[in-house]
Amino acid sequence: TASDTPLLLIEDVVKRFGGLTAVDHVSFTVKSNSITGLIGPNGAGKSTLFNCITGIVQPDSGTIQLDGVKIQEKSPNQIAQHGLGRTFQTPKIFRGMSVRENLAFAAPVQHGERPVSTLIHPQKIKEEETAVQSRVEDTLEFLSLDHLADEYASGLSGGQRKLLELGRVLMLDPDLILLDEPMAGVNPALTNELLDRLHELTNRGRTILLIEHDMDLIMNHCDRVVVLHNGQTLASGSPSLVQDDERVIEAYLGD
Ligand code: ADP
Ligand code: MG
Repeated sequence: TASDTPLLLIEDVVKRFGGLTAVDHVSFTVKSNSITGLIGPNGAGKSTLFNCITGIVQPDSGTIQLDGVKIQEKSPNQIAQHGLGRTFQTPKIFRGMSVRENLAFAAPVQHGERPVSTLIHPQKIKEEETAVQSRVEDTLEFLSLDHLADEYASGLSGGQRKLLELGRVLMLDPDLILLDEPMAGVNPALTNELLDRLHELTNRGRTILLIEHDMDLIMNHCDRVVVLHNGQTLASGSPSLVQDDERVIEAYLGD
């Protein structure tokens, strides 16, 4: 990929629900190895846009490209295989499984799950199992969850669950990670830990698009900011530029 090709391109995307235009001709790009913040008042269309990108809902019109490939007619699974991972506002973890099991179960579909290949390639399956196990251990360490590895997910704090959900996404080794309000309800110490991990992920070549309410946090940690309001792109650019934008100030004061 040429360095000026954006990892994610959103062009003129529209999504209507009956008479309501939730996403109204939105356009922006996300550069590789960056953290982009998506902000806007409640109901602005942020989660709907995420659902369009991840294939959960189909946009009515517009273009969505991931690494130069049109993805808006693909299934969520195909889009995930193409290098996109996401978390949800409410973490989707298995509460009755341990932290370690939650991570292992998030690994991509393995040879071993198909009976025929089990007979033909027993050695290959062993190798894959070992690879998943070592990936689980790396992820536990990366997110400082090692000491909780054998705890049930149901026993974790809200912030720890968010870390675990990020871990489940990382098991898929995505290029682009979409995070829907990852810091909401997370205590300050864990928020800092999470932010630190996000920066480390961009150092390791990953790209992050995150929805967040906390304006200070967005301004201090994002390379670029996109502001949605009533489904439309109100402003986009560097944090300092967006922060001083009259329309952004008005939208937030009027909320
Ligand atoms: P945000 O995440 O910015 O708070 P949403 O994307 O959740 O905003 O919602 C944008 C608008 O679309 C809201 O008015 C919401 O009520 C509406 N909406 C979202 N999902 C649906 C749906 N599945 N059916 C009908 N309306 C929806
Ligand atoms: Mg939302």
